Amino acid sequence: MPDCLFCKIVAGEIPATVVAEDDQVLAFKDINPQAPVHVLVIPKRHIANTATATESDEPLIGHVLRMGCRVAVEAGVDESGFRLVLNRGPDSGEAVPHLHLHVLGGRRLAWPPG
Ligand code: 5GP
Ligand code: ZN
Repeated sequence: MPDCLFCKIVAGEIPATVVAEDDQVLAFKDINPQAPVHVLVIPKRHIANTATATESDEPLIGHVLRMGCRVAVEAGVDESGFRLVLNRGPDSGEAVPHLHLHVLGGRRLAWPPG
């Protein structure tokens, strides 16, 4: 999608520190990390968000989730624990309208979230 920041990262037009990739998804370090491990996992195909996703998007969203867990294991935070976050809408702080899963770990994360 033109003018989508994360589509530009997928296209290689904006650099990112990629930690994992396959034909469907890309995982890269968040530019403003909120934890020692903070990776974003996105579908390479533009999906706006989980709220507008369709049934046909379900396998891809499931794949994003599995890649998030793989990234956590490879970052060494599976035993200490990690959090997967999908923000949606202004109250969540969502800023980029291309579906992205936050993988957060490496420190104790507060609950309830701030
Ligand atoms: P949201 O608040 O929409 O759930 O999360 C968007 C995330 O994208 C934020 O954590 C922000 O730091 C990250 N981000 C924004 N622009 C860039 C960028 O150009 N490169 C990378 N790697 N992360 C970005
Ligand atoms: Zn996009």
